[in-house]
Amino acid sequence: MTDATALLAQAERQCQLRGVRFTPIRRRVLEMIAATSGGLKAYELLDRLAVEHAAARPPTVYRALDFLIEQGLVHRIESLNAYVACPCPEHAHGFQLLICRHCGRVEELHLDDVNAQLSTRARELGFRVERQTIELLGSCDLCLAAPARDDKPATTETS
Ligand SMILES: [Zn+2]
Ligand SMILES: [Zn+2]
Repeated sequence: MTDATALLAQAERQCQLRGVRFTPIRRRVLEMIAATSGGLKAYELLDRLAVEHAAARPPTVYRALDFLIEQGLVHRIESLNAYVACPCPEHAHGFQLLICRHCGRVEELHLDDVNAQLSTRARELGFRVERQTIELLGSCDLCLAAPARDDKPATTETS
């Protein structure tokens, strides 16, 4: 993540506009996630917070994460049990994540028509969608260009 400071300032503004509280622990959790390139695993986050906050017990941290996810500031990567900061938290629609399984880089896409099609089809089948996660797992361009690390074929997952 390149600009954690700008991201935090934006999060702060957004919380103010919505009248929700951006507490120190919420801020710190977002800051840690934003400062990590690629997803930050839940246990890594807990370990790091425990070092600096005696009070950062898992329930507190998970509540902070729930808040950040609800506000669209953070996305959960289901397949890795990790979290990424959303680069554009004002987006209203769904998103898709491209995840490099070598370096952990995550790119966020906003192909609204993909989500719209899925929602429409689900509705046609009488299915009520409660959560939609689209994660594509593979190798990023940088890792593909790097000297061979391992050559297992990349997999694609949609859950
Ligand atoms: Zn997003
Ligand atoms: Zn990569």
